[in-house]
Amino acid sequence: MASSKTLLITGVSSGFGRALAQEALAVGHKVVGTVRSADAKREFESLSPGAAWGCVLDVTDFDSIDGVVADIEASVGPIDVLVNNAGYGHEGIMEESPLAEMRRQFDVNVFGAVAMMKAVLPSMRERRRGHILNITSMGGYITMPGIAYYCGSKFALEGISEALGKEVKPFGIAVTAVAPGSFRTDWAGRSMMRTPRSIADYDDMFNPVREAREEKSGRQLGDPSKAARAMLAAIAADHPPAHLLLGSDALGLVRDKLSALNAEFDAWEAITVSTDG
Ligand code: NAP
Repeated sequence: MASSKTLLITGVSSGFGRALAQEALAVGHKVVGTVRSADAKREFESLSPGAAWGCVLDVTDFDSIDGVVADIEASVGPIDVLVNNAGYGHEGIMEESPLAEMRRQFDVNVFGAVAMMKAVLPSMRERRRGHILNITSMGGYITMPGIAYYCGSKFALEGISEALGKEVKPFGIAVTAVAPGSFRTDWAGRSMMRTPRSIADYDDMFNPVREAREEKSGRQLGDPSKAARAMLAAIAADHPPAHLLLGSDALGLVRDKLSALNAEFDAWEAITVSTDG
């Protein structure tokens, strides 16, 4: 078995967070998992008493994050790996979706993750080791109509992860942005925030997208336990990747996006370079 580490994973009540916690515990790691209720904390700790610690935290409770992380470090020990997994999908046509819903999406998926990173970095820097995994999405590379706020939040987290990785590499800290395709979690079910429809002009384009996502929920291609094992492989690596796609759907769609982007850059190259000098 790889050496035992202490993982702090946000959002271990279901989906990727729960699967990663279970797979990590199974191979002998310690896991501190954040949840949002006392019941969920008790249920999580019962998975592996003495190796699984629950911690009640909403990642948008920014003012309490430093204290929560300090308490974990004092009681459980230094955090070797932070996994920023907590997040949700906002679905809604941009013109129909209030700005408050965008703020909430970015508070959870971006600001919460950044606040967690800022809380663990002092100790990781002092110890000259550590690994941060940020669960982004293939929606951090590709976009689809109806999830503009979600894609925006995941593009933001991809960019922040990549830049942070360059800042902390000299201190022995790795940052990996993990971008899954479609997986069988609660993401498109109980967790998704769907803006009600209000502008009929978008019906033809968007109604089938919303229906297809609802219909496919629970039957997606990806297995969260296999994603968890893939993340554990990245955690065990001497040189973890800055970017890790999970799922053949993510790989195909992101490769197509990169090719299309290159083709468009090529088509407009003369105009692009015309601005020099
Ligand atoms: P999930 O089963 O709905 O799990 C989401 C987890 O995040 C839950 O534990 C939830 O806690 C927690 N959470 C949500 N908002 C939170 C907040 N404000 N503070 C603290 N915890 C919060 O869905 P999932 O698919 O595993 O989602 C995990 C991550 O994967 C998300 O960042 C998501 O965007 C990303 N992702 C998912 C897919 C996919 O196809 N499933 C693909 C790409 C990326 P509660 O139980 O208390 O709500």
